[in-house]
Amino acid sequence: MILLVEDSPIFGTLVKSNLEKRLSESIYWAQSFAAAKKIIDERAEDIDVALLDLSLPDCDMGEVVDYAISHEISSIVFTSRFDIQMHKTIWGKGVVDYVLKDGPDSLNYLAQQIQRLRRNHKYKILVVDDSPMLRKLICRLLTIHRFPTVTANNGVEALQVLEQHPDINLILTDYNMPEMDGFELTRTLRRHHSQENLAIIGLSAQGDRHVSAKFIKHGANDFIAKPFYAEEFYCRVNLNIDNMERVAIIRDSSHRDYLTGLHNRRYFFSRMARIFPKAKQLCVAMVDIDFFKAVNDNYGHDVGDTTLCVVADLLRRHLPEDALIARFGGEEFCLCLCDRTDMAVFDLLEQLRLQVENTTISAGDNTFNITISIGVCCKKMATIDEMIATADELLYNAKQQGRNCTKVLE
Ligand code: GH3
Ligand code: MG
Ligand code: MG
Repeated sequence: MILLVEDSPIFGTLVKSNLEKRLSESIYWAQSFAAAKKIIDERAEDIDVALLDLSLPDCDMGEVVDYAISHEISSIVFTSRFDIQMHKTIWGKGVVDYVLKDGPDSLNYLAQQIQRLRRNHKYKILVVDDSPMLRKLICRLLTIHRFPTVTANNGVEALQVLEQHPDINLILTDYNMPEMDGFELTRTLRRHHSQENLAIIGLSAQGDRHVSAKFIKHGANDFIAKPFYAEEFYCRVNLNIDNMERVAIIRDSSHRDYLTGLHNRRYFFSRMARIFPKAKQLCVAMVDIDFFKAVNDNYGHDVGDTTLCVVADLLRRHLPEDALIARFGGEEFCLCLCDRTDMAVFDLLEQLRLQVENTTISAGDNTFNITISIGVCCKKMATIDEMIATADELLYNAKQQGRNCTKVLE
């Protein structure tokens, strides 16, 4: 839950209503330090983020921030002015961020920061620095933003840590370190890890201003000069995480069929390129809706689309999680199932076929049933294309033999 502590009725109402709408959740609002203390004492465990006004009638030195942070609550501060002194005071307390009370744009920013903060636990960060003090400082900053962290003393150790934690998403690396420096580490990592999958931010206190460009030329995504302000540090880390998320979203949508949300043909073949050489046993099935053209002709194209989505849902729900399911085009789907016997796959597909047959589709005033035909190849061949062609032939046989049946390679 989010706790808002704000004495101004106008600003408080604005923040509360705006965030409730954007985040679809209730916000608890306290109008004084005393009221905030009471809520924190009673419900600290439930409070996920606190949005705190620095000056309240019963506290004007940010005591409410100290109180929330001492209860391990992520705190974002509101302030109407910002100067150097304020900067030092609030960042010193260990806040997540501050937001200026200067209009609707800052509420946009606030909502994004809360959402960002809530996703950060998914991104593991490796901090590489030969100074224990700096490693500790950087990890502390990252922990405030809820990033899980791991550390290494130098480049060589960083490579070992990455092997133990292949789920690391971002590396923050110093330049000057014994054994392997930041440039060498970055160059080595880039042989196997792209900028989109593993972000690297270089850090250095070197007076040499060429270090930043060199880091980037060696493959780093970004650079931070030491010493840095917490604010710049967070901006750069968040920016790089935001970029990775955007690339992941674009990549995922390029792998999916827009109508049904299933994977598409391109994804199917790129996954198969990896699965196929290693798989000892795998089955490929082609599934096609029977007389689908008649659905379009009788009920219209929109109902046809709904029907495709219903079949896609049945495939998703009925098939095991490890099944690779793709819409190949039109009303044709391709499935791949690994490490199962021919019989197990046949049974699974027959159940799927019956499930489709017994599902009544309703769209507008119409209700109707459809059936599917299936061709399956469970014999591993030289290439995936051969297996698909065989499954396709069997599908053709199924259609020839009256549809609504499953044909397996004898
Ligand atoms: P069969 O039992 O032999 O497979 O007959 P069928 O009617 O299912 O096959 P046919 O290939 O003759 O027709 C497929 C139809 O699917 C024709 C095409 O307009 C329609 N179709 C393809 N993609 C879409 C789509 O995305 N939405 C809708 N509504 N229709 C589509
Ligand atoms: Mg068809
Ligand atoms: Mg067809």
